[in-house]
Amino acid sequence: MKFIVAVDCEGVAATVGSPGASLNESRDLKFAQLQATREADACAKGFFDAGADQVIVWDNHGGSLNLHYDLLDERCDIALGVGFTHRFPGLDSSFAGVAFIGYHAMDNTEDAVMCHTFSSATYQSMKINETQVGELAIDGAVAGSHDVPVVFVASDDKGTAEAQSFFENVATVTTKEALGWNAAISKHPQRAIAEIRAGAKAAAERLDVFAPFRFIEPLSLEIRYKRIEAAQSASRGLKAGERTDPYTVRWLLDSLADYF
Ligand SMILES: [Zn+2]
Repeated sequence: MKFIVAVDCEGVAATVGSPGASLNESRDLKFAQLQATREADACAKGFFDAGADQVIVWDNHGGSLNLHYDLLDERCDIALGVGFTHRFPGLDSSFAGVAFIGYHAMDNTEDAVMCHTFSSATYQSMKINETQVGELAIDGAVAGSHDVPVVFVASDDKGTAEAQSFFENVATVTTKEALGWNAAISKHPQRAIAEIRAGAKAAAERLDVFAPFRFIEPLSLEIRYKRIEAAQSASRGLKAGERTDPYTVRWLLDSLADYF
């Protein structure tokens, strides 16, 4: 029984942004990286408690060098750094499930903490097959393309609601009540950790209730950019998409792997 724990940093307990900045410029970054480590460790421990043979922790917040690797349970393997061919390094159909720790709501979510999709500076929004999507749905569908379900998600209340809207029966832990981009009432970090360990264990003990999440393929991917020149570049060159308005480009893809 093998799992991958995908770890972002914005959605962990007691983490918000600073005005006008992404997490990387927030005074909260160092704490967020430490708490992301603790929450990833708790999730992995929960999976091991349920009998997992392997857990890969995938560090994937910008630059993918965030976690305190030596603080992770020593039974974990760790995927870090950038330049992999696809998202979810190491994943294949032999895995029982994936979990999302520290993930955040998609852009266009009112009052979610630091909600965005991949880059708040570059992208306004993304749609797949006309449905608004964020990193949760996209990474969930990447796992689904390998027949692997999303079994557990920890995020703020907007992120866990989003996860439940895409992934049937997914187990969730809410780390904080989001009240704005930089505003939250958080669970105490240690309480969030305890809930994550118990939640991940319980999820791994009822794997029969989960199903892989997929988009119908071939699919349409529509990206609305923040800057008009980014849309212009995306609509020209080798992997050019079709410009649907000055800020928006659409691609028709055979599979999700053609882009992500
Ligand atoms: Zn992030």
